[in-house]
Amino acid sequence: MWPPLLNAISPAGERARLSTLIFHRVLPAPDPLLPWEVDVATFDHICSWVSQWFNVLPLDDAVDRLAQGRLPARAMTITFDDGYEDNHRHALPILKRHGLMATFFVATGFLDGGRMWNDSFIESIRRATDPVIDLRSAAGDLLGRFPVGSAATRRAAIDAVLALTKYLPLDDRVALSLRFAEELGVDLPDDLMMRSEQVLALRRAGMQIGAHTVSHPILARLDVDSARREIEQSKETLENLLGEPVTLFAYPNGRSGTDYDDQSVSLVRDAGFKAAVSTDRGVGTSDSDLFQLPRFTPWDRSKLRFGFRLVDNLRRAA
Ligand SMILES: [Zn+2]
Repeated sequence: MWPPLLNAISPAGERARLSTLIFHRVLPAPDPLLPWEVDVATFDHICSWVSQWFNVLPLDDAVDRLAQGRLPARAMTITFDDGYEDNHRHALPILKRHGLMATFFVATGFLDGGRMWNDSFIESIRRATDPVIDLRSAAGDLLGRFPVGSAATRRAAIDAVLALTKYLPLDDRVALSLRFAEELGVDLPDDLMMRSEQVLALRRAGMQIGAHTVSHPILARLDVDSARREIEQSKETLENLLGEPVTLFAYPNGRSGTDYDDQSVSLVRDAGFKAAVSTDRGVGTSDSDLFQLPRFTPWDRSKLRFGFRLVDNLRRAA
């Protein structure tokens, strides 16, 4: 039933619509502390569904075709943000098995042993041994006391801590996340993100690599020189690693107006990228700005609901 329905709302040519899925991690098994991330079984199902329903294209090819009005019906691209190690370990074999291509947007500052600030908080709370954590001495009035005696309370503590710290200046966030780990007396993992050779291996397996800044800042909150440096340096690092131009970019956090602004878009265009993706919901159309292509992944885990949610996302562009 899906392809005929999708052909009607996602036709070929001038009226085509480009659905772009966004993922971050593919976990070896479901993780109650990371409920929004897919595990290998779920990702395998999703790949099997979309390979039957959609024409999955590499993002750079899809962008060219969108600009030229030559997209096929039911056009889709698959993207991953940040550069997690499980992208290479778990996502790559599944994508290959389904014959699917994806684009991996890598924040280059975390390659080879780095860790994102949010993971420092999450992994600290995961490893906390006391039933209640008291963050008042680590964070002053910003953070308080949180019960962490069960998966549900750990999850709630993670939500609260991330929400309270998300829009602090990046340096403060990083420093606080490390002080937090120290306060709890936990050792943090240094193997969450890819090593450079894994990025290279993804590319050699036919996948695409895009830039995602160096340190994953909120671009809209940086001065112009810092934002330019973040954008250009991530491109340059990846180009040196891969020995080829890197032409695709994803805005960190990715909501237009909040996380990136017109200045960020100009900087990305001036840096020589040919397209960029946001995390605003929707689909790409002939009217879309190629430097702000929307992305959307249904959170549903059943085939029927996942399909309907994609249809609903396509219809929103009508
Ligand atoms: Zn990101």
